[in-house]
Amino acid sequence: MSNCLSCGHERHTNELKCSQCGNYYSKIYQLLDEEEAREEENSFRSQCLRIFRSGDVKQALMFELKQFIARVSRQGLFALFVVIAFIFALMVTVL
Ligand SMILES: [Zn+2]
Repeated sequence: MSNCLSCGHERHTNELKCSQCGNYYSKIYQLLDEEEAREEENSFRSQCLRIFRSGDVKQALMFELKQFIARVSRQGLFALFVVIAFIFALMVTVL
């Protein structure tokens, strides 16, 4: 059991960050927590919530769609290339 390095608040073993000042006890905890927050932000549920909460649903939908396309485009292009190559190979062998 140790205390928070920035405010001296008593630390509980199962806590990742200080309940008093919000300072993380370890850099790893901070990275893990931030990664989780990022994943949460990118989840389909939170995307839907953001769209519905915004005043302009249509514009929000377009924004989320653009972000989604930007995120999957690298993997997506490769997958598309594989599919096209497969179809092409199939056509060549059949014809
Ligand atoms: Zn603290």
